[in-house]
Amino acid sequence: MTIALKIDVDTWRGTREGVPALVETLRAHGAGATFLFSLGPDHTGRALRRAFRPGFLAKASRTSVLEHYGLRTLLYGVLLPGPDIGRSCAAILRGVRDGGFEVGVHCWDHVRWQDGVAQHDRAWAAAEMNKARRRFIEIFDHAPLVHGAAGWQMSADAYALEAELGFWYASDGRGTHAYWPSIDGRRVGVPQLPTTLPTLDELLGRDGWTPDNVHHALLRATAGPSRDIHVYTLHAELEGMKLRPVFERLLAGWREQGHAPQAMCDVMAGLDSATLPLHEIGSGTVPGRSGVLAVQGQPA
Ligand SMILES: [Zn+2]
Repeated sequence: MTIALKIDVDTWRGTREGVPALVETLRAHGAGATFLFSLGPDHTGRALRRAFRPGFLAKASRTSVLEHYGLRTLLYGVLLPGPDIGRSCAAILRGVRDGGFEVGVHCWDHVRWQDGVAQHDRAWAAAEMNKARRRFIEIFDHAPLVHGAAGWQMSADAYALEAELGFWYASDGRGTHAYWPSIDGRRVGVPQLPTTLPTLDELLGRDGWTPDNVHHALLRATAGPSRDIHVYTLHAELEGMKLRPVFERLLAGWREQGHAPQAMCDVMAGLDSATLPLHEIGSGTVPGRSGVLAVQGQPA
């Protein structure tokens, strides 16, 4: 079994505090990982608009949004100006790359993408993706090769744009195995390596899972021999901060199971993309998460 780690970095605070902590933890365990950065303004506070949507309050109270994100972060873009993550944290981002980890694009503005991409047109998606891509090049001096959509939100245009903007592969949604996305049987975009495992915020508070035992839920899914490729998505704001002990237990458990977590690029390098199956782009729900997400659809 192969396990790849995808680290979504959503906020300024997560970038400054969670990212360096995760780098240290990963190093201590000899694990590889892919960090996907939010490169523009932190407008997390605007996500509070979602409080008026069904399901959000249940999830917010279950996972304690305030506890994990902090009051200040929840005011960015509402009562406080949102700090520019890429500009003010460029040295931290380059440090991750220099530490031997894969780096890629999560988004320009997390809340804007998450709440907007499904309803807007191609020009809107292109503008957001180009802003993120340009900022990435400013910071790293090379074009980004991997994209992982904020909030697992995508549109048909966004899939197509990934190929046009030169991405090598993406991990935009949820699924079971690597595939080429397609629309009505026609290939679109770049190969997808979807997130296969549940995230901590989806598990906590359900089925008796607590920070003390939730690692067992994931270790159960990765036990036993198989040829599966699992992608686990973690968050700098969670596993890099208050839930860091959970991530430590998870890494120790994977080591006991004989798994060495890798960056997604190392997994992709071992796949022959020409032979990957074609699956329709889809959307669906995931237990423990509100709303509809990008998912791997039916085989084309
Ligand atoms: Zn995110």
